[in-house]
Amino acid sequence: MSAIKYKNNNLFVENASVKNVASKYKTPFYLYSNSNIVENYKSFYGNFKKVDPLICFSVKANSNIKILKILKKMGSGADVVSGGELLKALKSGIKPNKIVFSGVGKTEEELKLAIKKNILLINIESENEAALINKLASKMRGKTSIGIRLNPDINAPTHKKISTGKAEDKFGLSKKNLIEFCRNIKKFENLKLEAISVHIGSQILNENPYKKTLKVLAEIISKTKINFKFVDLGGGFGITYKKGDRKIILKDYSNLVEKFMKKYNCKIIFEPGRTIVGNSAILVAKIQYLKKGANKIFAIINAGMNDFMRPALYDAIHNIFPIIKNKKKIKGTLEFVGPICETTCKFIKYKNYQKINQSDYVAIMDVGAYGASLSSNYNTKPLIAELLVSKKKITIIRRKQDLLKLINN
Ligand SMILES: *Cc1c(COP(=O)(O)O)cnc(C)c1O
Repeated sequence: MSAIKYKNNNLFVENASVKNVASKYKTPFYLYSNSNIVENYKSFYGNFKKVDPLICFSVKANSNIKILKILKKMGSGADVVSGGELLKALKSGIKPNKIVFSGVGKTEEELKLAIKKNILLINIESENEAALINKLASKMRGKTSIGIRLNPDINAPTHKKISTGKAEDKFGLSKKNLIEFCRNIKKFENLKLEAISVHIGSQILNENPYKKTLKVLAEIISKTKINFKFVDLGGGFGITYKKGDRKIILKDYSNLVEKFMKKYNCKIIFEPGRTIVGNSAILVAKIQYLKKGANKIFAIINAGMNDFMRPALYDAIHNIFPIIKNKKKIKGTLEFVGPICETTCKFIKYKNYQKINQSDYVAIMDVGAYGASLSSNYNTKPLIAELLVSKKKITIIRRKQDLLKLINN
């Protein structure tokens, strides 16, 4: 059960009424529920309990140190995709032996950092990357643990901008190239090939692509004849953002993963991001202006695509709910838009929305994943604050960026 819900027509995050928070802190801001994060983590782990996987939270979904600390306490590791994320994971207290590093374009500097910190796995995505790590490792520590990312050529139905597992996508090695790479692994004297990894995309609401991927993995592993110590099955598990979104069912998949683990005698790693934090936050904004358009009403809020980019970038649908519900209706269409000077700085349209006024507060729902972490300074707007609710207690987990610092840098 989510801890973000209405009580007597007032939106609450745990025991804090959003209205009270909005009157105390300046909008817009992200508002997180500690318990949603904790419960999501438990529930994800619970799905795979028999597998006892290492969960490496995908830091790019949310890289707030305080949130990483909550997850660290739960036993989570981290999946990072840059040197900066690696440093944040370490700063949050996550141990190097629970950190995996993915990405197609890791720089020499980032690889040196990963080698120096002796992280669990650098998941390589090309033979040339392996060659570079091999060279760096020979000068630094000697044997370095790597995983190799497979592009399984699986079409997982999701938005085209977040698919990663098809042959035409830039990620991983093709089946043929991966097998070839494994045959020649001995030429890389300073690499210890310990893992095979996959990640087929994001916001996947159907378990079948995962099952197919497992089959492809089995086929490839038997061809390589390598006993991989780890099999990293990636993330991508979808959440329900809107009515009618299917719920992914992980029970059968979990049973298959258990069989797989026993057969190949490997430790399973998962890299969930969205499932852990997606529904853990709302973005609280104020209606700056109501404006009559030719055939609809615009509700111009004080948060924009710079603060929350998913609708502009992926056509993502996020509900915007009033923080106080009433029974009156507005006739016709209402569209929520932001202040940024781009046509795509818009959020969602409703027919017959409830009656709202200028200066009312609203909440963009389910913004915990790829929300704050994707935000930018576009239009020279400072990054907004992030607040965390734990029962009744409210903590600022990131201050609003200082505008003067932003313009004087
Ligand atoms: C983004 C990413 C993830 C997390 O994806 P979610 O959809 O948030 O679960 C996991 N692994 C890799 C390699 C990624 O790039």
